Amino acid sequence: MEIQKCLILGSGPAGYTAAIYAARAGLSPVVYEGLQPGGQLTTTTEIENFPGYPDGVDANDMMEQLRKQAERFGTEVRSSMATAADLDQRPFVLTFDDGTKVATHTLIIATGATAKYLGLDDEKKYSGMGVSACATCDGFFYRKKRVAVVGGGDTACEEASYLAGLAEKVYMIVRKPYLRASQAMQERVANDPKIEILFETNTLGLYGDGGVEGAHLVYRKGETDERRYDLAIDGFFLAIGHKPNSELFAQWLELDEHGYIMTEGATPRTKVQGVFAAGDVADPLYRQAITAAASGCKAAIEAERYLKENGL
Ligand code: NDP
Repeated sequence: MEIQKCLILGSGPAGYTAAIYAARAGLSPVVYEGLQPGGQLTTTTEIENFPGYPDGVDANDMMEQLRKQAERFGTEVRSSMATAADLDQRPFVLTFDDGTKVATHTLIIATGATAKYLGLDDEKKYSGMGVSACATCDGFFYRKKRVAVVGGGDTACEEASYLAGLAEKVYMIVRKPYLRASQAMQERVANDPKIEILFETNTLGLYGDGGVEGAHLVYRKGETDERRYDLAIDGFFLAIGHKPNSELFAQWLELDEHGYIMTEGATPRTKVQGVFAAGDVADPLYRQAITAAASGCKAAIEAERYLKENGL
């Protein structure tokens, strides 16, 4: 079986930054791109908050540049998807969907998280044209516009207050008659005059020519006072949670109640020595390209130290 020094799962900012550092340290890392080459960023359009791009950068272009930068120093990028792991063995063994097995002395898990969507066809239809799962990424494009945020948790409240700083009006579409968010976050949205909460409301679909112009909503679905109406909005933000892509490792690593990989303090070290977690798969709080990149860097530095300390 092929044995690698450093295998990286995931090709978002965390995976590629880890690869750049690991490659420059002479580890000849192998990156497995996974299902979504370039990671979650490739679902957005322009990135304006990554340092170093004063005029913004197309998300796909940035990920392409990161890949090239990693390859320049000797990273090998492969496109298969990991389907099984064995972290009891040393070196660790990963199995991929093309049937191959690869052993590795260090493993950097940068498999990201997936934003949850409602499952409406219109979410796909208007993806990148008014539908977003990241207010920090896309909110800026809705200055002085009307937007809606779906969800009633802390993320939804945080996204709604962030958007209220930019947009003219923010609706929160909440399916229950109450918010699930913490008291402090509830107060923050309640005290913001730009935010209006639509309780007991669900989204049936979106409409618009060439972009979102509104949402079809239903109030108290199935009740005697059910009411269906259209709400004019320019942006539709999902904030109903994220699912970290950590299942493959659940047996060996410590996960929090939402499935995020728990790491040792501010380091990317996991419970298994030689296995590191970087980016959104281990970050329920920030979920930004720049924070993911930073943790990828830390993971590569840790991997290099681990290899050296163990004479590998
Ligand atoms: P949560 O699971 O806490 O909340 C998800 C929200 O989305 C709920 O209001 C839920 O409704 C709603 N929802 C889920 N599915 C649907 C659906 N199909 N249709 C309509 N609404 C739906 O997720 P969060 O991302 O908000 O938070 C995750 C964790 O991260 C939490 O522990 C949170 O406290 C933490 N967090 C903390 C922050 C902070 O402290 N600043 C910031 C962000 C997150 P319902 O209530 O009906 O289930």
